[in-house]
Amino acid sequence: MKSENNKKMPVLFIGHGSPMNAIETNPFTESLRKLGESFAEMPKAIMVVSAHWLTRGTFVSTAEKPEVIYDFYGFPKELYQVKYPAVGAPFIAKEIMKLAPHIKEDNQWGLDHGAWSILKHIFPNAGIPVFQLSIDFYQSMQYHFDLASELRQLREQGVLFIGSGNVVHNLALVFSKEDNSPFEWASEFDEIVKNSIMNKDFDSLINYKKFGRTADLAIPTVDHYVPLLYTLGMAEADEEITFTYEEVFTSLSMRCVRIG
Ligand code: ZN
Repeated sequence: MKSENNKKMPVLFIGHGSPMNAIETNPFTESLRKLGESFAEMPKAIMVVSAHWLTRGTFVSTAEKPEVIYDFYGFPKELYQVKYPAVGAPFIAKEIMKLAPHIKEDNQWGLDHGAWSILKHIFPNAGIPVFQLSIDFYQSMQYHFDLASELRQLREQGVLFIGSGNVVHNLALVFSKEDNSPFEWASEFDEIVKNSIMNKDFDSLINYKKFGRTADLAIPTVDHYVPLLYTLGMAEADEEITFTYEEVFTSLSMRCVRIG
C-alpha cells in the first residue's frame, strides 16, 4: 500500500449492545449514521476487533468475500436476512502479518454481528473493504493494548480501526429490572472509564481489576471490554478524544469513543 496520499484515520470504539440495533432506528443508531457522515475522506479499509470473535492465538480474516455470520439465537426473522455485502481486504491483512508476525491467517471467518450490526449504520452502502482481527482469549489485557500499538501505523495508510464491544456488559442482569434504570455500579464503572479515557490514563483501564467489585460486576467476562483496549492502544498522545454516544441502561453501557 502507498501511504503518501492517505489521510490518517481516526480510531473508534463502538458499544454495540443488542443485535436488534442492526434493524432499528434509535438515538444510538442515529449517532452511528452521523459518525459515518462525518468522514471527509473515506477509509481505504476497515479493521474490526469484535467481542464475538474469540480464539486461541490471534488471527486476521483474509476472506475475499466475508459472509455475514448470524451468531445469535431467538431473534426475529428479519434480523437473519440482513446483508452486508462488503468485500474483504486480504492485501491489508497480509501487511498486518508483517507488522506482527505471530498473527495467523483465517480465510473462513466472515463478519460477526459485532461488525455488521454497526457498519450497517456507519457505512450503509457497504462500499469499503472490511476485515476482522480476532481476540486471543488466553492473553493478558497488556497484550491486547500492546498489539494495537504495533498496528497503529495502519491508520496512516487509510485503515479505519473499530473496536466493537461494551465497556459495561453484564448480560445476566440486563433484563433484571422493571425500568431500564442503570445499576449504580454500572454508572460508576462507565464513569471511571470515561474519566480514565479523558485523562489518557490507559494504564488504569489495562489494570481495571484494581477497581474491585465495580469492575467485577461490569466485566464478568472480558470479551466485550477487550476491544476498548485495542482502540486505546491505537491512540497517539496528542489526539482529541470525543464520546460520540453515551447511555447506560441496567447493566449495559453503550458508550462510544472517537480518537482523532
Ligand atoms: Zn456483543
